[in-house]
Amino acid sequence: MTTSGGTASRVLVLNSGSSSVKYQLLDMDGDVRLATGLVERIGESSSRLAHTPRGGPARERTGRIADHDQALKAAAGELAADGLGLDSPELVAIGHRVVHGGLRFTEPTVITGEVLEEIERLVPVAPLHNPANITGIRTARSLRPDLPQVAVFDTAFHTTMPEYAARYAIDVETADAHRIRRYGFHGTSHAYVARRTAGLLGRAPEEVNTIVLHLGNGASASAVAGGRCVDTSMGLTPLEGLVMGTRSGDIDPAVTFHLGRVAGMSVDEVDVLLNKKSGLVGLCGDNDMREIRRRVDEGDERAALAFDIYIHRLKKYIGAYSAVLGRVDALVFTAGVGENSAPVREAALAGLEGFGLAVDPERNAVRSGEPRLISPDGARVAVAVVPTDEELEIARQTFALAHN
Ligand code: ADP
Repeated sequence: MTTSGGTASRVLVLNSGSSSVKYQLLDMDGDVRLATGLVERIGESSSRLAHTPRGGPARERTGRIADHDQALKAAAGELAADGLGLDSPELVAIGHRVVHGGLRFTEPTVITGEVLEEIERLVPVAPLHNPANITGIRTARSLRPDLPQVAVFDTAFHTTMPEYAARYAIDVETADAHRIRRYGFHGTSHAYVARRTAGLLGRAPEEVNTIVLHLGNGASASAVAGGRCVDTSMGLTPLEGLVMGTRSGDIDPAVTFHLGRVAGMSVDEVDVLLNKKSGLVGLCGDNDMREIRRRVDEGDERAALAFDIYIHRLKKYIGAYSAVLGRVDALVFTAGVGENSAPVREAALAGLEGFGLAVDPERNAVRSGEPRLISPDGARVAVAVVPTDEELEIARQTFALAHN
């Protein structure tokens, strides 16, 4: 489609959570972010919409936004006020982050009625995430029924895992009846960051074996062999693996029986404990790594222990994925903690010289929004920091599909 401005190239990216919608409008001609926004506390009296057009300033409004339909209409209103309305012929597609694509969705997919039904069938394995994603899709479709809507799945990148990495060692019939297996999450980020890391090394993704550490509030590790995921730390749900902001990560499953039998907790209470009240917040009361480091520097012992537990788990995964890959060419840190916390990067690799892993202290201390190497010259394994950009990746995949 062409307009007076040239080839239409705008994509709206939507990330719908249970009580929030994050959105970005991008122009794929030059990957320009035209506007970003967030609607949060949907359904409460204190809903808030924050909208930032390119070049700012940010605008904010508060007051009840009843549901996702109203949230999206409010966001559309803000975009229209910037001359970026959703009715513009420049908009070619809407890309949706969808958390769980099960085994069926291995690629970004144009959303048809049948695709939407399949995403609904996956609700039992992603009860917290997929319903919100579905609501966002339905609302966006009602606003622009004529536009291609594309689902980009968090699980897709991990569908290449071999069966022996994906399957839990439990009774096969029970597992299959309930679709219990390791799916993995944050896949869009792992894929994007692994590819960017290969680019940073001036090599094709197919040639490079990479350990990706996505350390945000949620955190996951993956082993990527020649551009394909071969193992990842999150499992049936995002609870497994690394110590996270509020999630425990790996734990003996018998802890859950014990809490039921001995502490009298219900399944839902254990769920809340492990997902919301554990990890760093459970260990020391804070889940922001900046605050934890500040407390460690002041000599706070609880914060120091929480930090050490976080780092110990990271090291175990680095060791495990070194063994899974056999040969590691690169290790990359990304997301809020990975991109910003030099102490976490330094501590995670301390003592791993035998694995060819080291950070150069000066390079590690540099603050930058750019992909960069932090390993010493001549290191056997390149250690990198690569800012993740899930929205850009979703927009690119959406645009590529919408153009086919
Ligand atoms: P998510 O997308 O999972 O919510 P992010 O990738 O945005 O998470 O990461 C958020 C986390 O990043 C915060 O909870 C905080 O721990 C950490 N973080 C952000 N900025 C810094 C910083 N400058 N130094 C250390 N940690 C940081």
